[in-house]
Amino acid sequence: MSNAESQAAVANEGGYSKKNPFPSTLKQRRLLNKPGSTKEVQHLELCLTGSGLEYRPGDSLAIIPTNSDRLVADVMEAGGLDADVRVELANGNSAPLGQALKNEFDVSGLTKSVLKKYNQLAQSDKIEALLDPENAAGLKEYLWGREVVDLLSDFPVAGMTAGDFCSVLRKITPRLYSIASSPLAHPGEVHLTIAVLRYHSHGRDREGVCSTYAAERVVVGETMPVFLHHDKHFKLPEDGNTPIIMVGPGTGIAPFRAFVEERAATGADGRSWLFFGDRNRETDFLYGEEFERYHADGKLTRIDLAFSRDQEEKVYVQHRMLENGAELYAWLNDGAMFYVCGDASRMAGDVHEALITIAEREGGHSREAAEAWLKQLQDDRRYLRDVY
Ligand SMILES: Cc1cc2nc3c(=O)[nH]c(=O)nc-3n(C[C@H](O)[C@H](O)[C@H](O)COP(=O)(O)OP(=O)(O)OC[C@H]3O[C@@H](n4cnc5c(N)ncnc54)[C@H](O)[C@@H]3O)c2cc1C
Repeated sequence: MSNAESQAAVANEGGYSKKNPFPSTLKQRRLLNKPGSTKEVQHLELCLTGSGLEYRPGDSLAIIPTNSDRLVADVMEAGGLDADVRVELANGNSAPLGQALKNEFDVSGLTKSVLKKYNQLAQSDKIEALLDPENAAGLKEYLWGREVVDLLSDFPVAGMTAGDFCSVLRKITPRLYSIASSPLAHPGEVHLTIAVLRYHSHGRDREGVCSTYAAERVVVGETMPVFLHHDKHFKLPEDGNTPIIMVGPGTGIAPFRAFVEERAATGADGRSWLFFGDRNRETDFLYGEEFERYHADGKLTRIDLAFSRDQEEKVYVQHRMLENGAELYAWLNDGAMFYVCGDASRMAGDVHEALITIAEREGGHSREAAEAWLKQLQDDRRYLRDVY
């Protein structure tokens, strides 16, 4: 499933959905990175008691965030808008603009269609030029690292009304997070592993809407609107004896914490092998103590780690796979399932390529035969991805 499809997906579990989310209480939150890390990944524990929501490892939870007060204030200032003016909402009610922008609208994501709608107000030749189908590269360059606030600053519309502005905006969209817990290990709870997004572009400090909502704006004890998104295929094998290989660097570790917990709780005997990677072992080995304990107890057969910044040359999970290619190939030939979770832009492709190389080296296959072998694994649903 593509990122966009996943993000747009609307589950309807126990009556809860995008339109009618469950108010789940945040029970606990803790930073997974140790002091001195260059990353910020939060572990969240949410309460599902009384919801009737039932998930399995491999499913995701959707969160419907609200925007930060700072972002809303910046947008209103850039647009010369008054927070107290009432605007119509899609449900027929009305609300003060400040409140509507915080709760209802996507006031950050800049897309071609937002640009197009905005230009009905701005009537700008420069925006028109960006929208020219011949100018896809120019549009891409403008959109990269920019948000709605930049559009308002770059192309101000004199006398824009609050209603006009809202008509340009999309509704705020839910974000999906791979579930990091087994319900057998944590009844009535769901755990998430959320990387907090902060970056600087075009002269502004920016932040991800939902990751900062979950990481800092919701206070422990408060509720957040959520609903479940089931993934039919990204599941543990029915047979607990089937070996599993899990590749989950960074937040890609989330579903594998759930898998390992589930297998420990059910007493599944199958072998399991985890590849994890991040920047530094000292600070970024997410759930490190838990996985080391599972490994020591024999609940996790193997664990191979790749910390890219612990040595001169960058080492990633695909390198660890290649180093252990013979064994990995043997596991796959023994019927192991192969799971990948995390970054879609580079990691998933690098892991895919490493699998092809392993099949060439260890199976003596040509490139075409190795690709066909991998395609067969995918068709057999033994090679599964949850990437974003
Ligand atoms: C199936 C699935 C499972 C997922 N599981 C997890 C998970 O377990 N943990 C997790 O943390 N996330 C997960 N995600 C990603 C998650 O859904 C969100 O996309 C992520 O948290 C960012 O959302 P946000 O609202 O904080 O950022 P947004 O407000 O949506 O901002 C993201 C946008 O910021 C821009 N941007 C980001 N970085 C930069 C940069 N350096 N320079 C310029 N522009 C930039 C890009 O346009 C990007 O699209 C998953 C996604 C899917 C589809």
